[in-house]
Formats: sequence, structure tokens, C-alpha cells
Amino acid sequence: MKHYDILVIGGGPAGITISKVLHRKKTVGIIRPEDHSMIYCAMPYAIEKIIHLEKTFKKDSIVTDSGADLIRDTVVRIDFDQKQVHTQTNEVYGYGKLVLATGAVPVLPPIPGKNLKRVMTFKTENDLRTIIDYCEHGSISKAVVVGAGAIGVELAQALKAIGLETHLVDMASTILSAMMDKEMIEDAEGVLTREGIHLHLNSKVVELRGADAVEHVVLDDGQVISFQDAEDCSISEDFIEQQGLVVFAVGMRVEKELFEDTGLALGRDGIIVNGRMETNLPDVYAVGDCAQFVSGITGEVISGKLATNAVPMAKVFAQNQLGADKSYPGFFNGAATKIGPFFAGGTGLTEKAASTTLETVTGHSELTTIFPNMPGAKKVRMKMIAEKGTLRILGAQFLSGEPVTDKVDVMTLAIQSGLTVTHLAEFSYSSQPYQSFFPANNLMVAAAEDILSKLK
Ligand SMILES: Cc1cc2nc3c(=O)[nH]c(=O)nc-3n(C[C@H](O)[C@H](O)[C@H](O)COP(=O)(O)OP(=O)(O)OC[C@H]3O[C@@H](n4cnc5c(N)ncnc54)[C@H](O)[C@@H]3O)c2cc1C
Repeated sequence: MKHYDILVIGGGPAGITISKVLHRKKTVGIIRPEDHSMIYCAMPYAIEKIIHLEKTFKKDSIVTDSGADLIRDTVVRIDFDQKQVHTQTNEVYGYGKLVLATGAVPVLPPIPGKNLKRVMTFKTENDLRTIIDYCEHGSISKAVVVGAGAIGVELAQALKAIGLETHLVDMASTILSAMMDKEMIEDAEGVLTREGIHLHLNSKVVELRGADAVEHVVLDDGQVISFQDAEDCSISEDFIEQQGLVVFAVGMRVEKELFEDTGLALGRDGIIVNGRMETNLPDVYAVGDCAQFVSGITGEVISGKLATNAVPMAKVFAQNQLGADKSYPGFFNGAATKIGPFFAGGTGLTEKAASTTLETVTGHSELTTIFPNMPGAKKVRMKMIAEKGTLRILGAQFLSGEPVTDKVDVMTLAIQSGLTVTHLAEFSYSSQPYQSFFPANNLMVAAAEDILSKLK
């Protein structure tokens, strides 16, 4: 039986980060079943053919160059008392410390018809290959994407770009409802519609119908999206049967089967850990999507299933093994996406989410990405959300013709550092014609000043 100082179950961003940080200073084994660890964020762009499918694979050498063993297998049982894990191929590995980095799987809601052919979710290499194969070699002409979060929006645009009639369905009244408030995303929503994507907001898929494969998608208002249009069938005798694809992108859930009845404490959103990533069991840790954690703003349990959360969680664990004394600060959920010509991004709480428990005040600003008299200047808008009274910043959102992640990250830092609107109004910034608005103003300062002016 091989024994490791640190044994990690899962080879996603969390597992990979642990191997990189511990680089040859401990014996590390990483167990994962997949042929390739995926760059998930890039998957929609492989469908759109902006990148080749193989460009969504991470190199195994990221793990093996760090001195860790990459074990291609699936863990089927963990014996926490004996400190051993058992795999599908009947191997047994011993550990000094065990890290659960098993991620999360996409939710397929329990609705009638969910097991029909061509109903799927979107996370694995196999999912990606299946969609590409359907589109290239099948007679798929329509797609319904369920869930208008960042993954759903990116996927819907990719499917539309390769020529499919595309429908995007979401229960919320706007797209990206967890990231952006209505007034900040309306323009981008309009782009989706103009691009020809059929948006079904305030709508829920309640049933999928078909004999073998999915043929009809039934919404809660009674509307039916049909893959087999009656009028098309009468066009000609050599009519090729049309087929459709339904992809659910409605969120992720942690698979708990491996941990059930083991004594490991589980919460509604995953494995319960403290700031050091320790579970309730000795020498057992959990990091990344499989770990339940709290908002860095409210302290309440929230979902934070992002690679940008998984990596810092894994760093906290790994750096502590090397003598540090770090604690994970919580989820802030800075994230971004692209919609047609727009870049959209947000961090912290939306106004809608924050105002369910807190009294909020908001400010808006709009400038250009560079000096407005320079060629290529584009609009950039910001919304800042703060707590009334304390003025601490709770969230921020951006919509721009240029990438916004740098701005999102500055605002995450502001929130994480407990800064207030007053600090942001006094923020010392830089300016240059090709790179910013005039020295006379700054997007974040202007949004902060808008809040302060409302409070006068
Ligand atoms: C399409 C898509 C786009 C995304 N875009 C972004 C983005 O733009 N930005 C962002 O921050 N995040 C994005 N995410 C989310 C991000 O990919 C996840 O948050 C991140 O992968 C979580 O990392 P992880 O290591 O915790 O889990 P995962 O990446 O899910 O890895 C879990 C690993 O555990 C393995 N495993 C599970 N069970 C077992 C077992 N029993 N035995 C052995 N191995 C096991 C799995 O096979 C896998 O290797 C996206 C996700 C998807 C699906």
C-alpha cells in the first residue's frame, strides 16, 4: 500500500493548486478519474470554435512536475479510522492528511423527461465532445439552454454562433441575476435578443416530452418549444428530421454519497469546514466546490462554486502545511462574462440580494474606457452598493465595451478590506489618454460620490 503525506481526492483547480504549492516538500498523491483535467471556463469557446477542443485540457505535467503522483482512478470508499482510501481498481492508499477536493456536479432538475436522449448538463470533457459531435455530425437545428447564469449565457451564445436556433430559459426576471441588477444588464440582454437568441425569462421548464429523444420543452406558462415544427414537416418529402438539444446550466450540487454514514459533517451546500479548511474529522480537509463556506460579507452560508474560490481555499490548506497560519476569508464571488460586445462583471452582493437583510444605498457612474476624444473609446458603467449607515461597500457591478475583471477585482479588494464609500470617494487613481478617462474623473470615485450626494 502506497502512503502519502497528503492525499488529495480530485484533480480540478483545487487539487492542482495543492500539488503546486507543496512542490516536492511533502509526498503528494492526486486521485482523479478523468483523462484530462479541464479548463472549464474555456469550454463554450470550443463549441464556438474560437479555440480547439484540446485547448480546454490542462497538461498533466502541472501536477507531475510538482513531484506529485497523478493517480487515474475513482475513490469508492474512505476508511477515515484506518486513514485509507479504496479505489475502483481495488487499490488502497494510505495518508497522513486527506484532502477532499471532489468538486460539484451540475444539477439536472427532477422533471418528467429528464432522462430522454439529448438532455444533458455541461461540465465534463464528455459533455463537451457530445455537444460538438451532435452539432457537427447530427441534425441538431435547435437548442434550449436552461439557466441564464454565466455558463448558460456563454453556452447559448456559442450554440447560436454555430447556427442553431437557440432558446435561453430562466426563472429569474433577468439574465445573470446572481451577478447583476436589472438596470446594469438590460443593455446586454437586448444584445442577446438582437443576436436572435430567444429569451424566456420568468419561465421554468416543467417537462420534457419525446418518445426516445427530447422533442418538446414545456414551460410553466404552457408554452411549448418544439424541435419538430409541424409546418417544417410539410415542406418536402426529403425533409430531414430536425433534432434538438436541451442543456441544463442551473447550478451545481455536491455529490455526498461517498461521505454518507462516515461521520463527516455535511451541510446543505457541501462539506462543512472551518477557515483552515479542516472538517470535523481529524486530518481530513475539504477545499473547492465540495466545501461549504460562508460569505465574506454577511457570514452566512452562500454558494461560491468558482475556480477563483477553489484556488485560494486550496492555497490556505497547502500553505498551512508548510508552516503558515492562514484562514480563508469567505466568498466574495467576483466574476465576469461576455455578452456580444459587452463585458459584464460583478462582485459581492447585488442590490437585490443585499436589500433582503440590509439597508442599502447605491450609486451609479458612466464614463468612457479611455479619453473620450481618443479613437476606440467605449462606454463603461458602474454600480456600487453600500450599507446605509456604516457606508461599507457590499457590492459592485460593471458593464463595458472592454474587459472589466480588473475593476471587479479592485472592488473585491475594497470589500474584502472593509473599505467604505468615503474611502472610495478619496481613492487615488491614475490617468492616461489610451488607458483611462480624463484625470478629472474616475469610475469608482464617481459612483462613490453619487452615493455620498444622495445621503446629503
Ligand atoms: C462550463 C463552466 C464554466 C466555468 N467558468 C468559470 C469561470 O469563468 N470562472 C470561475 O472562477 N469558475 C468557473 N467555473 C467553475 C469552476 O470550474 C469550478 O468552481 C472549479 O472547477 C472547482 O474546482 P474544484 O477543484 O473544487 O472541483 P472540480 O474542478 O469539479 O474538480 C473535482 C475533481 O474531483 C474528481 N472527483 C470527484 N469525485 C471523485 C472520486 N470519488 N474519486 C476521484 N476523483 C473524484 C473529479 O473527477 C474532478 O477531477 C466554470 C465551470 C463550468 C462547468
